[in-house]
Amino acid sequence: MLKLVKSVVFSFVLASILAISAPVWAASNANPTVKAASPSANSIQTAERVVKLLGNLLSRAQIPFHGELRLTQKHGFHAEAFFGSPGYIELGESYANQLTDGELTFVISHELAHLLSDHQARLVDAYDKKKSAGLSVAAQSDLTRLAVLQRDLELDADRIGAVWTIRAGFSAADAASALERAYGAAQQVLGTHPALKVRTSALLSAR
Ligand SMILES: [Zn+2]
Repeated sequence: MLKLVKSVVFSFVLASILAISAPVWAASNANPTVKAASPSANSIQTAERVVKLLGNLLSRAQIPFHGELRLTQKHGFHAEAFFGSPGYIELGESYANQLTDGELTFVISHELAHLLSDHQARLVDAYDKKKSAGLSVAAQSDLTRLAVLQRDLELDADRIGAVWTIRAGFSAADAASALERAYGAAQQVLGTHPALKVRTSALLSAR
């Protein structure tokens, strides 16, 4: 069942959204919650759109996600996965509003891929190895290895995310254009993320 909540106060308003989305969920074993960024009409409208796209994605790609998708009013291209059981995704409301349905489905898929793959275990393992190496001569190469691992995990999330985006009824081109939009003029947004060309070329081979 899909829940869309802002607060207890708004749960009555949102109960009707829940009812509308329920049939989408019949075929899915997922049980996520979508939280609007604020009680304003615009925020609710964005959250409703996310509910619809997330519902379509989880049921068509058969993704068993039981966590939360929290819309926020953070600015910029804000989309982040927070590990835990079951973990949650933060998504900037203004970012979501700039994306087409296909692009937004990919952004959500990418973050879901981080949460539902072994990414947390692989990162924890790498951090533990780094810690046990301490401030030895090996530290610098450990840091390099960690950076390489982070980039690998990004490509892994892109690849899985693109496959899910396609299953949801969109295309690899939607995934690539989501990345192009996020990178804008910059070819490298963060040290932890691979260059745009590396990411889009990997994506376009997805099917
Ligand atoms: Zn990522």
